[in-house]
Amino acid sequence: MTDTPTQLFIGGAWVDASDGATMPVDDPATGEVLCHVADAGPKDAKLAEEAAVQAQEAWARTAPRARSEILRRAHELIIERTDVLAHLMTSEMGKPLAEARGEVAYAAEFFRWFSEEAVRIDGGFTTLPDGRNRMLLSRRPVGPCLLITPWNFPLAMGTRKIGPAIAAGCTMILKPAPQTPLSSLALAAILKEAGLPDGVLNVVTTSRAGEVCEPLLRGGRIRKLSFTGSTAVGQLLLAQSAEAVVRTSMELGGNAPFLVFEDADLDKAVDGAMVAKMRNMGEACTAANRFFVHRSVAEEFGRRLAERMGALVVGPGTRDGVDVGPLIDRRGRAKVEELVADAVERGAHVLVGGRTPEGPGCFYPPTVLADVDPGSRLMDTEIFGPVAAILTFDEEDEVIRRANDTPWGLVGYVFTEGLDRALRVSERLEVGMVGLNTGLVSNPAAPFGGVKQSGLGREGGRVGIDEFLEYQYLAVPVS
Ligand code: NAP
Repeated sequence: MTDTPTQLFIGGAWVDASDGATMPVDDPATGEVLCHVADAGPKDAKLAEEAAVQAQEAWARTAPRARSEILRRAHELIIERTDVLAHLMTSEMGKPLAEARGEVAYAAEFFRWFSEEAVRIDGGFTTLPDGRNRMLLSRRPVGPCLLITPWNFPLAMGTRKIGPAIAAGCTMILKPAPQTPLSSLALAAILKEAGLPDGVLNVVTTSRAGEVCEPLLRGGRIRKLSFTGSTAVGQLLLAQSAEAVVRTSMELGGNAPFLVFEDADLDKAVDGAMVAKMRNMGEACTAANRFFVHRSVAEEFGRRLAERMGALVVGPGTRDGVDVGPLIDRRGRAKVEELVADAVERGAHVLVGGRTPEGPGCFYPPTVLADVDPGSRLMDTEIFGPVAAILTFDEEDEVIRRANDTPWGLVGYVFTEGLDRALRVSERLEVGMVGLNTGLVSNPAAPFGGVKQSGLGREGGRVGIDEFLEYQYLAVPVS
């Protein structure tokens, strides 16, 4: 931990909060304080804004190839330092080291992907239909951005925003979640080493998110907000962005349905369920929240899933052989406990897990609940923990209606061996992404995002950079 930066990163320099405030970073596996980091206030946010605004013009004029090469170098440095970054992430967030290494690779890939996109920003030139005017169309960076990230993927949520912002020529302020600031600070150090000019990226760690971000959004100098987090906070930030008409991208919560039809390959379905439920201990917006299983296979599916979930090893993420680390904090665990208690009270059967272990750390066991009542709270709340809730269905139309009966629409999972049904059901699900016979959809080359209250815009893929670009149309008369 000794080499990890713990100060704010403003204008290319490491600085303390202007009032000297610091905040603790806890290890969720032990509950102990790992270290303290600078705790920025509104004054620091203003300094970061000034640095981003000052750097914007020159950065927008920097050759796309130069921006691309900085991203490429940063990608290589991240890969080289996989072990250090993975340990850091596991210490502050809890996920097992193997998963942390996976996230480092996933995070780095956003930089490689957007290093390739930086040099492919195109425009257009044409004579307009009236024959009197030419149109010259160019793409411009949207301007200084505010990037707000959650704690569940401390590195990848940052690179998924920073990558396209750098590629497009935007400067930025990153505000990471207070539980996991260290990964973002380490990332800033890597980008500096990779040659990112001062002021292009500024990192403001804070326990006072509202006080720090609201003036930035209302002030009119920040031109873009890219937010990943809960729908409730997203709604608040959308309202704050309205005043200065700040452009927004919103990656919000999910309530993913996981559909297993009677013709599914149950081995694939259980493998898919393990990934869709247990990746990141269930602390993922893409986590399967509601398992709808056809009545004819529900008992067998539940038995096999419970067997696999029960065999997982729970413990500190740094320990060899551990599959499931602690949840992020006591509040997160208490929410999972309450949701399970409510479901059990309404008649759910616990096939495995369901009991909080004694001792330090925020551990919760992999849990499978069968015969869950549709009125249970976990049906319309993101569980954000290792709990699989199984309900049964009889008809295709019925299950599609139930799957869509939620304000969210991030991702859905469909397990069937029938091609017609696979396409028909996928097309009717109100979601931005579908996993067809797979429990994993996330990929830097694919557009990630949701419909309904799961968000606005897409991250990653060919379209990810569009969120950070504006069009400018130049009218040129034909002489
Ligand atoms: P959260 O409470 O909404 O917080 C997300 C970020 O917003 C944190 O950095 C948080 O800082 C900040 N924040 C909260 N209130 C703010 C305010 N008034 N002004 C400015 N910033 C504010 O969500 P979380 O619990 O960290 O993360 C879990 C949520 O993220 C889940 O709903 C999950 O589905 C969603 N998520 C979505 C995606 C996606 O791509 N769709 C990916 C990952 C996670 P503070 O903690 O200091 O308030």
